[in-house]
Amino acid sequence: MQKFIFVSGGVCSSLGKGVAASSIGALLEGRGLNVRMIKCDPYINVDAGTMNPYQHGEVYVTDDGAETDLDLGNYARFTNSPLSRANSITTGQIYDSVIRKEREGRFLGKTIQVIPHITDEIKARIFAVARCDADTDIVIIEIGGTVGDIESIPFLEAARQMIHELGRSNALSIHLTLIPEVAGGELKTKPTQHSVKAMQEMGIQPDVLICRAPYMLDEDARKKIALFCNVEAEAVFTSYDIKTTIYQVPLVFFDQKLDYVILKKMNVESRHANLKPWKTVMERFNKRSCKARIGIVGKYMELHDAYKSVYEALFHAGLACAVDVQLVKIDSSKLEEADNLDLIFGPNGTHAIDGILTPGGFGSRGINGMVKAACWARTRNKPYFGICLGMQIMIIDWARNVLHWEDADSTEFNQETKHPVVSLLEEQTDVTQMGATMRLGKMETIARPESLLFKAYGEKNIWERHRHRYEFSNKYRVEMAGSGLILGAFTPDGSLVESVQWPDNIWGVGVQFHPEFKSKPIMPHPLFRDFIAAVRSNVLQNSK
Ligand code: GLN
Repeated sequence: MQKFIFVSGGVCSSLGKGVAASSIGALLEGRGLNVRMIKCDPYINVDAGTMNPYQHGEVYVTDDGAETDLDLGNYARFTNSPLSRANSITTGQIYDSVIRKEREGRFLGKTIQVIPHITDEIKARIFAVARCDADTDIVIIEIGGTVGDIESIPFLEAARQMIHELGRSNALSIHLTLIPEVAGGELKTKPTQHSVKAMQEMGIQPDVLICRAPYMLDEDARKKIALFCNVEAEAVFTSYDIKTTIYQVPLVFFDQKLDYVILKKMNVESRHANLKPWKTVMERFNKRSCKARIGIVGKYMELHDAYKSVYEALFHAGLACAVDVQLVKIDSSKLEEADNLDLIFGPNGTHAIDGILTPGGFGSRGINGMVKAACWARTRNKPYFGICLGMQIMIIDWARNVLHWEDADSTEFNQETKHPVVSLLEEQTDVTQMGATMRLGKMETIARPESLLFKAYGEKNIWERHRHRYEFSNKYRVEMAGSGLILGAFTPDGSLVESVQWPDNIWGVGVQFHPEFKSKPIMPHPLFRDFIAAVRSNVLQNSK
């Protein structure tokens, strides 16, 4: 019998529901169970693809090209759940498919209503993920938003129905709330009581509470919460603020026996817990022996979530290379007026950085600042990693500053340029619809044997995820390569350039795809690993 765990949140957002759901998944996998993760997003967008990163953070791309919520990135880093379009459900998708069915006349004249038609569609999608693989033991469904929001009601109602239909040992409710500390250092349980009351009004009695608090709740607080919220004291857990890394959360939960309590409530027998991956992360975390400052030169700097997977991948690479990666977030538009980047990036500069990464992005703001930063790294022999837009920036820098085509640009930013070194594919020129119309998802790339790409992956056939419209312009291949820029990888038919590399730099690589989505805490992505390894050797060299 497959089991379902619903993870909801109360009091306020940003309590770490995604990390909590992922950590539960990780612990259950550690018990030998097959886990599948689903995110339900109450927004009306069909997917996250058309949203500005400032709205909901980065867009996480799956192998099958779905543009999903960033929580799927957490699932990918903590669990082995396969993730595809089916694992990301939004209100927009649900209504879209119910309305399509209605237009096709498939409801046989009935009035279409939230209950049962919308809730049936939600349930059908959850069951579809469970049934996709007969080996699946447990499906964890994270419900976005906060209980009490209008938008999340249909999802909570679908959860209520499933709990009622399947029984509580087959469908469990885990509720995450906040225990704030007020002046005087006292922890307050009232918001949690209200939040659980809101769940009860929806017809759901949470089985397990995870309380986000500044520090571990004591027994009295646990008992009080248990009494008021109708749960057992042993089912009240603390997700306390940790100073190390989010990858410690599975261990924090394990120490409190969260996985044991969940399995007991669901009558699941399992083997002893295997916590090795998480212990290894903590060992590597504590063994880091050098610090490196990585300048992230991009557009969406104020919001950490906007480049979440990139930051996590850098952290994973740091664990593998014993480097404490310090992120220096630099809004590239602020570099546009700077005359001398040595004064900013150089050893005595305001930011003194050891390597630069330019991540993906759209639109023209700050582009010239990114080009300047790339030029600085290239001419100062600093490790540089360009991802998607970052690779396009390397191409523009090379054209402007090596080939001296001063107006060289991408047609995304300047349609009039005489040197459109990055431009649209023929088939993209007529696209007017914005959602899901880019080059999206997993595709094959062939690395040239002499490239740093080949060295990193150890093989020439590479499968990575894409999300972009613009490409290296093929008509400049001869001049670019002739002047020394290494074209390091191509699509299998040779028609598109997938990677460029600086010839004389310690490590200067750009890729048209998004490697950050596949990095895991103890299995860092090879390109991030080699970038940070180059940074490390540079740092050690300079400190001699
Ligand atoms: N804006 C660029 C393009 O569409 C880069 C996209 C990205 O960095 N994801 O090609």
